[in-house]
Amino acid sequence: MEAIVLHGKNDLRYVTDYPKPIPGPGEVLLKMTYSSICQTDIEVWQHGMFDWSGTPHIQGHEAAGIVVEIGPALEEDNPDPRRGSKLPKSTLEIGTRVAVENVRTCGTCFFCRKGTSQLCENGRNFGFSDDGGLAEFGVWPAALCIPLPDNVTNEEAPLAEPTSVAVHAVENANVTVGETAAVIGCGVVGLCTLQVLKAAGLNVIAIDPREQSLKLARELGAIETLNPNDVDPGEILPALTNGYGPDVIIETAGAPGTGLDAANWVRRGGRVVIVGFSHEDATLNFGRAHMAEKTIIGSSATSTGGYQKAVNLIANGSVNVKPLISALVPLDKGIEDGFERMLKPEKDVYRILVGNG
Ligand SMILES: [Zn+2]
Ligand SMILES: [Zn+2]
Repeated sequence: MEAIVLHGKNDLRYVTDYPKPIPGPGEVLLKMTYSSICQTDIEVWQHGMFDWSGTPHIQGHEAAGIVVEIGPALEEDNPDPRRGSKLPKSTLEIGTRVAVENVRTCGTCFFCRKGTSQLCENGRNFGFSDDGGLAEFGVWPAALCIPLPDNVTNEEAPLAEPTSVAVHAVENANVTVGETAAVIGCGVVGLCTLQVLKAAGLNVIAIDPREQSLKLARELGAIETLNPNDVDPGEILPALTNGYGPDVIIETAGAPGTGLDAANWVRRGGRVVIVGFSHEDATLNFGRAHMAEKTIIGSSATSTGGYQKAVNLIANGSVNVKPLISALVPLDKGIEDGFERMLKPEKDVYRILVGNG
């Protein structure tokens, strides 16, 4: 089958002879529709950000597909005499359109048992550790394939992944209706976060140096936008929030200094959620954080149930991902018109969808 396969750092190949996968117990075979490429895909391709095991694998962690085959039920291959009854059969049927919940957690480690599966020590990932969605077919556990309502299109479905990241960030922020939040960074995750915050009843101020993104942020409901090239948000934010600063700041840019900015700009007693990925060290005055009772929270991927919530928010119109889809590219053009276009410093795209639809 056709696939876009990562062989190693800087070595991404389009092939037509990748073996078609066979669904194992509890898994389904999906005919992939579209996968979107995000900055993490580019990082992995260019820098080998995740542990590189040396086994080539198909990329594409923001993915959607259609169920075309249902693997054997778990109990047929793994009979458990203690259970007595059979496990419930999957509700998926041939033809069900799904979004792929990309993180496969073990359910048994310390973190999974505590209900914090996003910290699972044995997690696998569709598109990073395991074969992903940039192919004609993929296999994944039925339990992690989220059925799509009729009004969520195959094009919108991969964007459930960044939306699920936004859901997790907003839940980590412990928000309350009527609060004011600032979002630093108006890329795809930032613009999804803005909309989830709005859906949770907050006023949102968006901060980004790109005018095009600020315009989109306003269209998607930001009450105010700030361009740090033009103004100092550290001065303006208090003026927009009765002199105190936002209750919550969610940092999605991962740029040098933006995490520290968030910690400095949030009000006394406020919460900062770090979603953007940054390698840099920054110096934080802990004395000030102590005096001001500021809380800094890390937020990675999503938690159990976050993906379903993301699909629900797209379906009910709270999160509009349509403006975040910049181009549709077939698999055989995915490297040159997808990955390579994302490399350009002046890239004018949010998400490029790659797939044969
Ligand atoms: Zn991603
Ligand atoms: Zn686990």
